[in-house]
Amino acid sequence: MATPLNLILIGPPGAGKGTQATRLRDELRFPIVSTGEILRANVTNATRLGIAAQAHMNGGSLVPDDLVVAMATERLEQQDVSAGCILDGFPRTTVQADALMHQLLKRRNTITCALLLDTSDAEIIARIAGRRICVETGHSYHVEHAPPTIPGVCDQDGSALVLRDDDKPSVVEKRLEVYHEQTAPLIDYYSHRKLLHRIDGTGSPSEVYERIVVAVTALRASA
Ligand code: AMP
Repeated sequence: MATPLNLILIGPPGAGKGTQATRLRDELRFPIVSTGEILRANVTNATRLGIAAQAHMNGGSLVPDDLVVAMATERLEQQDVSAGCILDGFPRTTVQADALMHQLLKRRNTITCALLLDTSDAEIIARIAGRRICVETGHSYHVEHAPPTIPGVCDQDGSALVLRDDDKPSVVEKRLEVYHEQTAPLIDYYSHRKLLHRIDGTGSPSEVYERIVVAVTALRASA
């Protein structure tokens, strides 16, 4: 059986958490738990949670901790993540971080490390302006760095590519503010627990991925 692994990806919106999570999943074969994706699916299906979350998401603020913790806990109790997972976008507050630690302990599991994708606000604003997602699959593209074969059309299923509502410039500014106020405290939270690894988040997705591989390989070798 594979050695258990729970990797957390932390970083501002647009730092590449989703892209790097996908690469890590393909290489390490652990599932991704993305609270943003679960929330978007709930919004699309107009569930009770989706209806409660939508206004927060569209306004660029965080969905309240109680809703997100209940949703993430339910996901983390599923069998496919019992040996570990790659966490994209969760936790985003210290309350969520405590809940995650608690949930993993229940399964005698721990956090392997928290990878901080370090990226400046200026770079984030430029990146998000070019980001497009498939309306059907949620697959992410970038008009310059990861363009689809046909502009505006998803390579995977031919659906339209759109700018996410919360990727509009005014909302991005708010999301960055929220990141600095509510999520950046996780840097100290995980540093104190000797779990934080800073990854230079600048450059192409492949360059960032190479840095992550070096860090994760060293960690697993020392485990
Ligand atoms: P993401 O796809 O991770 O950028 O998430 C998109 C939006 O979903 C965020 O801007 C929040 O409004 C909401 N969201 C996702 N994950 C969380 C979380 N862990 N806590 C609170 N809100 C979240």
